[in-house]
Amino acid sequence: MHMKDDELRQKISEEISKTEKFVEEYRDMTRPVAPDVSIGRISRMDAINNKSVAEAALREAEQKLNQLKQALEKVGSTEFGVCRRCKNPIPIGRILARPQSVYCVHCAR
Ligand SMILES: [Zn+2]
Repeated sequence: MHMKDDELRQKISEEISKTEKFVEEYRDMTRPVAPDVSIGRISRMDAINNKSVAEAALREAEQKLNQLKQALEKVGSTEFGVCRRCKNPIPIGRILARPQSVYCVHCAR
């Protein structure tokens, strides 16, 4: 099942917009926690914990966004979506989930 380049570009673009939304949400969550007494000590600790989780998620999402953009530029080139080891096509689902992968599921094991 080979997808056309246009379809691939569309899928990747959709994933890029989704990931951009995540990046924005995580950025909101990683704003400095104000020393606001009204939220209470426990919720403040929660907020700080959530903040470090959100920071990790933000870094991951930003990285994925870059990789998706790189993948988008490679659509149409011979190296796009082809496993570097066995030369079989890498399914689009895998490319969207892990745009940095250069191996198919079997070879990545
Ligand atoms: Zn392979």
